Amino acid sequence: MKRKILFWIFGVSYVFLLCWAFAPVRQTIKLSVLSLFGAARSKFSAVPEDIYLSTFQPHAELIPVSMNEPLQPRFDVIEFHGHLFADRFGDPPADLAEQLKKGRIRYFVDLALFTSTLKDYQKLVEKTKQENVIHFVGFNWKHLRDGQSEDFGQAMARDLEELAKAGVRGVKLWKNFGLIEKTKDGKLLSMEDPRLDPVWDVCAKYKLLVAIHTADPPAFFRPVNQFNERFDELGRRPEWSFDSPDVPTLDDVLAQRDRLFKRRKDVTFVALHFGELAHDLKRAAALLDGNPNVHLDIAQRIDELGRQPFATRDFLIKYQDRILFGTDGLPDYKKIKIYWRFLETTDEYFDYYPVGGNRKGVWKIYGVHLPDSVLKKLYYNNAARLLRLQ
Ligand SMILES: [Zn+2]
Repeated sequence: MKRKILFWIFGVSYVFLLCWAFAPVRQTIKLSVLSLFGAARSKFSAVPEDIYLSTFQPHAELIPVSMNEPLQPRFDVIEFHGHLFADRFGDPPADLAEQLKKGRIRYFVDLALFTSTLKDYQKLVEKTKQENVIHFVGFNWKHLRDGQSEDFGQAMARDLEELAKAGVRGVKLWKNFGLIEKTKDGKLLSMEDPRLDPVWDVCAKYKLLVAIHTADPPAFFRPVNQFNERFDELGRRPEWSFDSPDVPTLDDVLAQRDRLFKRRKDVTFVALHFGELAHDLKRAAALLDGNPNVHLDIAQRIDELGRQPFATRDFLIKYQDRILFGTDGLPDYKKIKIYWRFLETTDEYFDYYPVGGNRKGVWKIYGVHLPDSVLKKLYYNNAARLLRLQ
């Protein structure tokens, strides 16, 4: 008899534990027990215990007091961080002129970093057929990669000088410079390598603006796990993670870049993506204070800036002569209007990406409502001055 009871206790416990292992069953058991004591509204509520983060798209129940999505920017704009991608894939979009007009974009800077020879530049200009598009070009890294000559800097400088003579106004550097590009001996090319001096000399001589993208947000350099605030983004694009022993740390690469800014005071730089410091405005301020030859653009960083709107507003007002407008990519009305909303309005708690677009992490942003005098500089005047437009 005793054995029979023990057998039943053991059997029931076993089945119970087995069921408990399944979340839906576990939830039903919990609700059933709680409802027995009158503590649950319904024992049949369908409340999952866990859902995938990628499917977590909560609809905010907040009814905002202010909703002022602008349909046009208040003033004309220079898009300083555009890409037509025509130096890599196909042609510029057929409706480019129309798109520029829609966004009040008077000039569009096409950061065409894959264009690094005169021949390619001429092809690009021919393809674009749009007078208000200003193509920036890249350094010709082929000279470094083919390992033919120790004088890769001289060879790169020759290509760049030809482009400068043809009327190019600026250069786009990508994060391959500092994080990926290696010299013949297999070592990473330091951003301060003196062999690049001839190239910087050309930038200084022809007043080429250097738009430089170094690194990525700090979360890209951290382990991609449950503590990473950009898990959404990195889970979707694992190849963007720099959490690897072969890659310099974020601080290392930014320190190298900052020493370059100091070493080449005769070159004007635009540190793209807010100089990778949109998450740390004190450090961004120190960068600008210590380097009068450096400016910042806001491309792809309203997500960071918009989560501390008071500090950002103060920063943008204080450094109003040093910030440029940019969004990164083709003119995209759905995306650009979020930038206008961020810069111009007092709207609160809205998405930094278009409906159906990709989230970087689970947060929302707030508008910084800049004064008109600052907006004009940020949208247009600062870039016009640096690009030497009227
Ligand atoms: Zn870009």
